[in-house]
Amino acid sequence: MTERKMVYPGDEVGEAEEFLAGPGTYVEDHKILAATVGELGFDEKEFMVYVTPAKPINVVKLGDIVIAIVDDLKSSMVTLGIERIEHKDRFVMGETHAAIHVAKCSHDYVRELEDVYRITDVVRARVIQAGPSIQLDTRDDDLGVIKGRCEVCRQSMVLKDGRLWCEECERFEARKISSRYGADNSPGVETSPIETKGA
Ligand SMILES: [Zn+2]
Repeated sequence: MTERKMVYPGDEVGEAEEFLAGPGTYVEDHKILAATVGELGFDEKEFMVYVTPAKPINVVKLGDIVIAIVDDLKSSMVTLGIERIEHKDRFVMGETHAAIHVAKCSHDYVRELEDVYRITDVVRARVIQAGPSIQLDTRDDDLGVIKGRCEVCRQSMVLKDGRLWCEECERFEARKISSRYGADNSPGVETSPIETKGA
């Protein structure tokens, strides 16, 4: 009963005849189902099951290195959805929105955001503000795009002469490329410890 259990929407968490359906749950066909991603709880006094929603914003901490996917380019910032936190992969729940201000993208002057990031890029970034909104920084060498797709054919691009090259279309695209470009970016596999550079 003291064990923490994460549940997902639609997971069966109890029988409606047996327990009360508490916050974060609903009843369907006499079964109590989780309505949200979160931690399952049980109120022994009320005989009630409930789900405490997971708060991804609390999981991301200042200084964390995160893997995020670019979902939009605004006038002065890139917005991303955080996929996972390095070293804490399993604790990222749901979607977490973050942004990188143009001045925090690269040590080089950025004329156009499209010269550094494009939608669907997979980016390795450092958290420089964890709340109320999550702000990221990718200026260091090991930060930036670790996987980019060609704007034309959507194929994954390879590193060539310090730029991204599409072998299909035989064309280059500019990015702020991480020194770890092409290194593993699949969940659950860990890379080397985070090296932090001075400012
Ligand atoms: Zn292409």
